[in-house]
Amino acid sequence: MSLRTLGHFIDNRFVGDGPRTFEKRSPVDGRVIARVAEAGVEEVDAAVRAARAALQGEWGRLDVGKRADLLNAVADGINRRFDDFLEAEVADTGKPVSLARHLDIPRGAANFKAFADTVKGVAMEAFQTATPDGQGALNYAIRAPKGVVAVICPWNLPLLLTTWKVAPALACGNAVVVKPSEETPSTATLLGEVMDSVGLPKGVYNVVHGFGPGSAGEYLTRHPGVNAITFTGETRTGTAIMKAAADGPRAVSFELGGKNAGIVFADCDMDAAVEGIARAAFANCGQVCLGTERVYVERPVFAAFVEALKRKAEGLRPGRPEDAQTGIGPLISREHRDKVLSYYRKAVEEGATIVTGGGVPDMPAELADGAWIAPTIWTGLPETSAVVREEIFGPCCHVRPFDAEDEVVRLANDTPYGLAATIWTRDLARAHRVAARMEAGIVWVNAWFLRDLRTPFGGSKASGIGREGGVHSLEFYTEQRNICIKL
Ligand code: NAD
Repeated sequence: MSLRTLGHFIDNRFVGDGPRTFEKRSPVDGRVIARVAEAGVEEVDAAVRAARAALQGEWGRLDVGKRADLLNAVADGINRRFDDFLEAEVADTGKPVSLARHLDIPRGAANFKAFADTVKGVAMEAFQTATPDGQGALNYAIRAPKGVVAVICPWNLPLLLTTWKVAPALACGNAVVVKPSEETPSTATLLGEVMDSVGLPKGVYNVVHGFGPGSAGEYLTRHPGVNAITFTGETRTGTAIMKAAADGPRAVSFELGGKNAGIVFADCDMDAAVEGIARAAFANCGQVCLGTERVYVERPVFAAFVEALKRKAEGLRPGRPEDAQTGIGPLISREHRDKVLSYYRKAVEEGATIVTGGGVPDMPAELADGAWIAPTIWTGLPETSAVVREEIFGPCCHVRPFDAEDEVVRLANDTPYGLAATIWTRDLARAHRVAARMEAGIVWVNAWFLRDLRTPFGGSKASGIGREGGVHSLEFYTEQRNICIKL
């Protein structure tokens, strides 16, 4: 593939032939695949000003039906250029084409459709108010956009997570400045072409590229023209952004890290549980915030479960994204692999039994510079170990036996995080009981990653602030204004 050059998308124009650029490398073989413009203070300022001007122009006057039409057109535009998005996403992430084809790109389009539907059905609150003269008053509340929204995104599901924020923001009438991850600059940029081609007014959707501290991310979160910040990424980064948002102050919506538990009761459908936990632990090379890195299995089925999960892990063939036999891609970068491998080493130091994996797989010479890593399962670690407590974000999990329901609830909740949990059982009463006791934003029973975009999504504890999805997104992307009419 030829080297791509990616610019910022500001006011519906691609800009960025300035001196500051950075290289994007393929996670598959380490080759440089793109040269990306890096935004300084001036480019970020230009993007924020373009967004502000859009709010004051035609975009600010469009009614909700027209905005919904445009969102539907964006979804159609993504589908029309499906193969371009697929190629760009796979090039940036190295994930199997089959995964991006079934998940990332369709969800990118679906997010726009979902929020076009949501915003058309929003009801308005109204009260008849008594007044001393007996004539009364009518009170109602309108929803106004927050204004310029900064959208800061991670690299694990780039198009899916970017559109999950951009779609509701635009549905509600905001203008956005997106800062994609430096690891995955392509699909957000391509989305600019789609936005322009469907007639989105100038400046409504802007993209600036760069890194976090001392770069586009920080400049954007500190810009006084930004009214709200929606961020998906690590909890530590969220903390830094919250400090930046305090100046203003600006509203924040945070979807942060997780250290999610999977609970397998002995009465479950074992094949389904093994399949589900294998996906939760290894899909997208373990780089899913909702993934499962801690698995608790009821003792009578512990040994059989570990053996079956081991077979699943060992059946995942690493390879090129386009190869139909590929079961697992690389991690996003060699830097991230260093981090994950440091946990693989720590597991050994902490006394883990390695059931499978634990290192780097043998790859052909032409892929040797990729960020490959073996899916890994451990047992035998104490709950206090770093490997059990900290988010690793790789294809790995620790499996531990348990004996009682109260015990496993306590173990699952004993974490600073609270993003997701998955429970496997055929006992309906227990499913309800245990699900309600999970300190997590989403709990699946006999499923994983089954999402209905109308439901409230977000994390508890250190996994996030706020809920987005369906009408819940309106709470962040709009503010209500009370209008009182004396009759
Ligand atoms: P990250 O926090 O390192 O980076 C995310 C984004 O923030 C990037 O665009 C980065 O450039 C930017 N950034 C970094 N420092 C910044 C700063 N000081 N100011 C402004 N911007 C800054 O996260 P990542 O490594 O890209 O993604 C992996 C993390 O994301 C994991 O912790 C994962 O759990 C989390 N995640 C959470 C969800 C969720 O829904 N809760 C979804 C996906 C990923």
